[in-house]
Amino acid sequence: MPGADGTRLVWTGAALIAAADTDPPPLDHTRYAPSTLWRLGCGCDDCLAWHNADSRERRRVLADAAFPEQRRQQVLELVAAGDVASIEQAAERAQVTPGMVFGLARRDDAFRAALDEAAMALVHQQRLLRPALWLPVRLPRDTVPTRAPPGQDDPAAAPPRGAVSRPVSPARGSIRQGLRLA
Ligand SMILES: [Zn+2]
Repeated sequence: MPGADGTRLVWTGAALIAAADTDPPPLDHTRYAPSTLWRLGCGCDDCLAWHNADSRERRRVLADAAFPEQRRQQVLELVAAGDVASIEQAAERAQVTPGMVFGLARRDDAFRAALDEAAMALVHQQRLLRPALWLPVRLPRDTVPTRAPPGQDDPAAAPPRGAVSRPVSPARGSIRQGLRLA
């Protein structure tokens, strides 16, 4: 760069080598955004945390674009209707990967709840279709409760010996259960 007197200052090889050996001056974290600091090469805990969060957000945006609302609904409806044997199969029918479905369920509480609800219907359906999984007393289909009545999950509320047994309700956490049964 030209100096005040017009002389031109240049880096010499020796100066470049010396500069490469010294740490760069600390970046002023009160003046620059983490995005800028990260691009300038700062890898401090704060800037690294920003970078990781930023990367996650970018991946999330990409994943959401690949698994749009319409296909989410399609997966939920296929599972809830019992048209498929597993969540994996529902994903395949909706032309997404199981990883996309389970990844969304991990980060999106509403979708996880909806998928869990749908999977309960799937497990229930499979029990109806698989006599081996079905307890001895069968109720007419339209009277089969889709939910356990209050207290049925409570061991203390178990019927006395000799009482008529009833179908057990699908357990909670039925996403996994649906997989195991599938
Ligand atoms: Zn930093």
